[in-house]
Amino acid sequence: MSVLVIAELDSHGIKAATRSAVTAASQFGEEVHLLLAGNDVAGIATQASAINGLNKILLVDATEYAHGIAENLTPLLVQLAPSYSAIVAAATSFGKNLLPRAAALLDVAMVSEVIQIIDATTFVRPMYAGNLNATVKAPAGLRILTIRPTVFEAAAATGGSAVVETIAASGDAGQAAWVSRDLVQLDRPELATARVVISGGRSLGSAEGFKATLTPLADVLGAAIGATRAAVDAGMAPNDSQVGQTGTVVAPELYIAFGVSGAAQHVGGIKDSKVIVAVNHDADAPIFQVADYGLVADLFTVIPELTAALKG
Ligand code: FAD
Repeated sequence: MSVLVIAELDSHGIKAATRSAVTAASQFGEEVHLLLAGNDVAGIATQASAINGLNKILLVDATEYAHGIAENLTPLLVQLAPSYSAIVAAATSFGKNLLPRAAALLDVAMVSEVIQIIDATTFVRPMYAGNLNATVKAPAGLRILTIRPTVFEAAAATGGSAVVETIAASGDAGQAAWVSRDLVQLDRPELATARVVISGGRSLGSAEGFKATLTPLADVLGAAIGATRAAVDAGMAPNDSQVGQTGTVVAPELYIAFGVSGAAQHVGGIKDSKVIVAVNHDADAPIFQVADYGLVADLFTVIPELTAALKG
């Protein structure tokens, strides 16, 4: 048997998170295949076959797979599933949308957000906003899992030589149609993959204050800007900047939290960061329990000073 990884695509081709899923899939000790489904994706097959650790690319090129519509991809997965011992995707919005649908139709217990593969049926996944890690055993037979891309190093984009096999499309399920996409134009690194993330809490006070205070520092550091849910709910920061259990899980080399209390739901999304720095004027703020470096100070004093020092 083999393990099937589902490729997630963007305008550059295969996303890095998919290569993390390849690394995870390799740990089953079986052949690893990649499902490359999309519209006009034949060119991406070359990129896919170069990914280290893959044995085969299943290429399916059809209009119904444009834009990664889960309603159309699910029947394809259900069709392919009997040939595989496991199906793996990254726990991104795409993977979290697609795999539970296939798991339900196949009557398989889904294992979500896996952070460690102990053996082919035993996995570790966080629970209760990351407050504990559960070791779960999947029943024998098909396993369907999403893996947390921040904890599995992405497989090398080069060095592989997987064979490419073209397979038949499963057709349009007729349940959803693509209308349009409103793309946020990012002028800084993407939150999920940034090497440095700086985050602000509701203590920033307003949308204007949030932007004016954090942007100059983010510019100097080349950092992505994150926010707590309280800041997002208060309209200070956009939804897609929310970091945490119900936002983006990040694992940058450096995470700096300004005026963030350190609620479990926030900490659950940052604790794989290599270095966590917290600035909070309350010495008892819970964020200091997870911080590698803490500064008890007013953020409105620290941020301009830090920005000026880094510029100088
Ligand atoms: P607060 O808790 O109000 O903390 C503000 C902090 O700023 C305080 O520690 C204060 O001492 C400090 N401060 C104030 N002024 C200054 C200053 N001038 N200088 C320095 N420090 C200052 N939250 C998330 O972030 N992400 C999630 O994904 C998430 N998911 C959730 C899911 C559920 C189901 C629930 C119930 C909650 C979730 N939350 C999430 C909300 C979470 O519980 C907290 O309410 C939220 O993280 C708190 O945000 P905050 O730290 O900005 O605000």
